[in-house]
Amino acid sequence: MRLSRRVSALKPSSTLAVSAKAKELRSHGIEVLTFATGEPDFITPEPIIEAACASLTAGNTHYAPVPGDPNCREAIAQKLREENGIPDVTSEHVVVSAGGKQSLHHVFHALLDPPAGSDPPQEVILPVPAWVSYAPQVQLAGGVIVEVVTDAASDFKARPEQIRQAITKNTRAIVLNSPSNPCGTMYSPDELRAIAAVIAEAAATTCPDIVIISDEIYEKIILGPDPFMSVGSIPEVADRTITVNGLSKAYAMTGWRVGYMAGSGAFGASIAAGIKKLQGQSTTAIPGFIMETIPVALRECEAQVKAMCEAYRHRGKVMYDALKRIPDMICPVPTGAFYAFPDVSAHFGKTSEGGRTINAAADFATALLEEKHVAVVPGEDFGTGAEKCIRMTFACGEEQIVEGVKRVHEFVEGLK
Ligand code: PMP
Ligand code: GLU
Repeated sequence: MRLSRRVSALKPSSTLAVSAKAKELRSHGIEVLTFATGEPDFITPEPIIEAACASLTAGNTHYAPVPGDPNCREAIAQKLREENGIPDVTSEHVVVSAGGKQSLHHVFHALLDPPAGSDPPQEVILPVPAWVSYAPQVQLAGGVIVEVVTDAASDFKARPEQIRQAITKNTRAIVLNSPSNPCGTMYSPDELRAIAAVIAEAAATTCPDIVIISDEIYEKIILGPDPFMSVGSIPEVADRTITVNGLSKAYAMTGWRVGYMAGSGAFGASIAAGIKKLQGQSTTAIPGFIMETIPVALRECEAQVKAMCEAYRHRGKVMYDALKRIPDMICPVPTGAFYAFPDVSAHFGKTSEGGRTINAAADFATALLEEKHVAVVPGEDFGTGAEKCIRMTFACGEEQIVEGVKRVHEFVEGLK
């Protein structure tokens, strides 16, 4: 008996794999410092926990409405209109899911068709390095990724001209993720407007159906001088932008599994209706007592979110300053999200103290874990160019950052 070709060809998530490996070493009594999974170390703010407990105690234990209850969808729609400036979003444009990851999976399924007959495959443009799950999700939905390759010298940001060149008549969508996982950088409002102008131009000429998928999961973790701006607030592309977000990162709620997608205008309402059908045939809805925490998070937890962001800003600086002192590591200044993404390729071709040859980021990460017990994510699965880099999250305590980067420093100094 065999598995489907789709599932057999699917790559496991490397971000989740590294943390599983670190946990396994820990279970053998080895003290591993992990900078692998991008998840806040903070506990979810108290008002959110209280709201969930109160809802459970009140007996909210039954199936909830598939796209989310009216109250939580309206809280999300209101946030998107008032805080993000996205026009024409009502609760009918919003579908709540079990995480931003699931919303993205649904969006790709709602947009893409696998090639039929001699049709060319549908293309999704992805500036890389990019988060590990976009490409497998596009592949599962039957599309192909067209990479736009960026580098550390440009803070890993795609130029409008690069995007213009990547668009073909088969382009269905472009994924933007600002602030970016894994790069830890973000586009300025002007840079986003310039990219939006390219998409609007393509929509008016070669690609009338092109859609922007804007993954804004790190919107609250802004570390540099630029303010956050939602792509969907740019008038020329508002009605073709799907915004994906969730509570995992901003509210330290990774384990709760809350995400959402929202469109705007007529197309936004139709994709939300399509995703509601998809979800109705798969997971149904997230638990009702968790839905009740959404308005509380969005409306009552600004102070806690700001305090966590302040902590990430400080930790990011501590990590960046320490990384900068390591010979031949090129690392853009983290300006958003909670990742440093140094290029370690200057050390390829060397051998570690433990006798391991370092020819790629995966070799670097494996040797670092085995010899110094520091877990980082090797860049390979983040796309072309990322194979030179390792990702280290600073969503962890300062002491761990200081000790961990010290071990990375010692590791690099031991390379011959
Ligand atoms: N997008 C990006 C860029 C991410 O880093 C993640 C991983 N946490 C997600 C989406 C999905 O997060 P979640 O499913 O926890 O909402
Ligand atoms: N997104 C986080 C990360 O990149 C969590 C793991 C995952 O879902 O990929 O580490």
